[in-house]
Amino acid sequence: MENLIILGAGPAGLTAALYAARANLSPLVITGNSVGGQIATTDLVENFPGFPEPIGGAELAERMKQQAERFGARFEFDEAIEVDFRGHPFQIRTYGGEYQAKAVIVATGATPRRLNVPGEQEFWGRGVSVCATCDGFFFTDKEVVVVGGGDSAFQEGLFLTRYARRVTIIHRRDQFRAQPILQERARRNPKIGFITDTIVTAILGEGRVRAVRLRNVKTGEEREFPTDGVFIFIGYEPNTALFRGQLELDEAGYIRVNERLHTSVPGVFAAGEVHDRWFRQAITSAGFGAMAAMEAEKFLAELEHRGVPTAATPR
Ligand SMILES: Cc1cc2nc3c(=O)[nH]c(=O)nc-3n(C[C@H](O)[C@H](O)[C@H](O)COP(=O)(O)OP(=O)(O)OC[C@H]3O[C@@H](n4cnc5c(N)ncnc54)[C@H](O)[C@@H]3O)c2cc1C
Repeated sequence: MENLIILGAGPAGLTAALYAARANLSPLVITGNSVGGQIATTDLVENFPGFPEPIGGAELAERMKQQAERFGARFEFDEAIEVDFRGHPFQIRTYGGEYQAKAVIVATGATPRRLNVPGEQEFWGRGVSVCATCDGFFFTDKEVVVVGGGDSAFQEGLFLTRYARRVTIIHRRDQFRAQPILQERARRNPKIGFITDTIVTAILGEGRVRAVRLRNVKTGEEREFPTDGVFIFIGYEPNTALFRGQLELDEAGYIRVNERLHTSVPGVFAAGEVHDRWFRQAITSAGFGAMAAMEAEKFLAELEHRGVPTAATPR
């Protein structure tokens, strides 16, 4: 029987682990297949406070893990495949075993949708990005393409004009889904260009991104388009399939939480991109992790105080 199980080891889960461990809860973190989550996939992080010099994403994650371990957090390199939050204690099944917990923090994050084209994996986090706030600065005075046609593509494209010499928005349809006001702003911006009816079929380069290969979906015509970077904004999938029917989710599949990160089940909390689709930063996710751990600690203290169900009391 665990006091607290944290599902996920991205910035949210790792920070929740640190706070919970320092509260003497000896949390167990079930990491999923990636310690560090999305941040571990990027080459350099320049906007995490406390690191005046750039730090590798994987190294940042490893440091967070070590810091949590120092105070007693435990890590299991396994993945949750089934949960039952209908009774208490909560049940979690992984590939390796079954667990019971008095409280749970869900920090399973989100997965940026990918183009799934050659070169994308090779240059992921090194010329291919899903975050203008994170990586825009690296493209100062360079040329970038933005793939997508929704609000994010336009918002991030506009943001990128602060740095890049030229931003070209590439969209597979002839109409954009972005709000008209964003489209208008982009059209008025002399740094932004548009290519419609076109998909990216490959990302090309040697060591760094040099070009994208494009195909016009109407004419079938193929060509290379020179660029220094590729920003992909074609949406995110929250990693919440596991919680369907157990926790309340919103229409896009994100976990619904109140302002203190409580989910629809008392004792189950959510932290990071699994509920937050607006900020999507390592620091904001870490912040949510800290908040969720503080709330879980209060919940457990209350349980102890009131003697509500624990492992010893049958369900
Ligand atoms: C290429 C790239 C570059 C980025 N650069 C920056 C940057 O420079 N600065 C910045 O602030 N942000 C950056 N970000 C964004 C930042 O990485 C995310 O905002 C942050 O990682 C989200 O943290 P999270 O903990 O909520 O979720 P995630 O990072 O998505 O972590 C989710 C965790 O849940 C685990 N998991 C998933 N399913 C299960 C399961 N069933 N059971 C158990 N565990 C599970 C995963 O293994 C992982 O450990 C970048 C993102 C990307 C993709």
